[in-house]
Amino acid sequence: MPNATRHFADLVLEHTTDAILFTDPDDTVVWVNEGFVRMYGYRLGDFAGKRPEDLLNAPDTDPAVTAQVLRALRERRPLQVELLNMRKSGNPVWVEKKLIPLFDATGRHIHNMSISRDITERKAMEANALEMTEAEAHRQHERRLLSQISEWLYSAKSLDELLMVVKKSMQTLLPEAEGQLYIYSNLRDTLELATRWGDGQAHDHIGAEDCWALRRGRAYAFGTKAIEFACSHVAGEEAPYFCLPIIAHGQTIGLLHLCFSAFDRSMVSRESIQTFVQQRWQVGLLCAEQISLAVANVQLRHELQDQSMRDPLTNLWNRRWFMEASQRELNRARSTAGALSIVSFDVDHFKTFNDAHGHDAGDHVLREVAMLLDVQFTGACAPARIGGEEFVALCPGLSLADATRAAERFIESLAVLELAHGGTVLPRITASAGVAAFPEDGDKVDRLMKVADEALYRAKEQGRNRVIASNHSAPRKVA
Ligand code: GH3
Ligand code: MG
Ligand code: MG
Repeated sequence: MPNATRHFADLVLEHTTDAILFTDPDDTVVWVNEGFVRMYGYRLGDFAGKRPEDLLNAPDTDPAVTAQVLRALRERRPLQVELLNMRKSGNPVWVEKKLIPLFDATGRHIHNMSISRDITERKAMEANALEMTEAEAHRQHERRLLSQISEWLYSAKSLDELLMVVKKSMQTLLPEAEGQLYIYSNLRDTLELATRWGDGQAHDHIGAEDCWALRRGRAYAFGTKAIEFACSHVAGEEAPYFCLPIIAHGQTIGLLHLCFSAFDRSMVSRESIQTFVQQRWQVGLLCAEQISLAVANVQLRHELQDQSMRDPLTNLWNRRWFMEASQRELNRARSTAGALSIVSFDVDHFKTFNDAHGHDAGDHVLREVAMLLDVQFTGACAPARIGGEEFVALCPGLSLADATRAAERFIESLAVLELAHGGTVLPRITASAGVAAFPEDGDKVDRLMKVADEALYRAKEQGRNRVIASNHSAPRKVA
């Protein structure tokens, strides 16, 4: 070799950062350069009796790549691969390895040359970029799901429908969390369990004072801080959880509780719990916000519907509600072969009463009549005001005899009711009633109403202040 070439070849070998290793055809290491020693920390002597992969392979080295290398060596083919090696210090190093079989002038295989270049940094950047791409893809997936879910939440027409959507959505968006949605009872003293998903512990009721989020009026995350206190409604649980208030029209109306109980805190570091919880925190908050808006939406819809179904004077259901509800209940009674009765009420001589005591006193009486009906016809039964001094009670599940007895109790208690208005005691008021029942009096609302009205007419004819059941029972005088 000319002197200059030898000189520069020596310089290259001395200064290159690549690790160069020569083996014999039987895989015995015969030479390594300085770059090899710098990269791996191994010297030639370390390879006595060992093949290169015995020292260089890391526990995580891909066995498929190792097999590829060994095959190339066997078949005396050049090869370039990326693989994970381990330095003498035990630190991993990613290398791009070139394997070159060398032959002499006669074509005899004399050596294998392996050149390894440290690509650890590039690999870390690639892994980082991949992680970021995956995280971004995950976020996009969540955003898409969330927007689909909010559309569903918005289209829910009733609270029941909304709860069904909430349950399904939460299971899809945060599959690793079990949860419950609690909604304040009408009395606003406790929150009642509205829906739940997963196996977590749930209560039928919880008090606002049992929850840090409700007490402090803001979302609460448990499970990441060195000093923190669990809400008493989750006492005994060690898993990370969120308590997220549900707020509609500026008022807290419920609580979304999400618990990650499958997450074993003893298995992972505080940092990884924090990362895990933080990622889900944003999704949890967005869900609580969407559920809040949807609940407000359903409540508004409900209020508007309620307004159009209520009688403003007495706050009883109105005729429109009665026509819809009676049809619905009749269908149900038909399909379940259940009982259903309808009672028609009419206040007696109310025109005379109005003429004598004035319209205001008359209104007062109508409100009292309504309240008494409400007390008498509870549970599945519901009274409605369908005209001036005309009322009706829809009684699903009540037979003709049961409904007649309920009507009698009402007529009796009205007859003894003492009322006063504007400082004067009013005269006693009475009413008459007629009762009809499915199936004996018909299987259509119109027909049942007609039969009940005819019975009512007979009650009037026979002297008022009484209940007459359809032709199936004899008239009875009350009081
Ligand atoms: P009967 O015993 O036969 O039912 O006699 P009645 O006077 O009750 O029957 P009628 O149908 O002749 O009169 C009903 C009266 O109810 C007419 C009206 O003065 C009164 N009324 C209807 N709606 C209202 C209302 O909203 N407020 C008040 N104060 N009175 C009403
Ligand atoms: Mg009338
Ligand atoms: Mg009347």
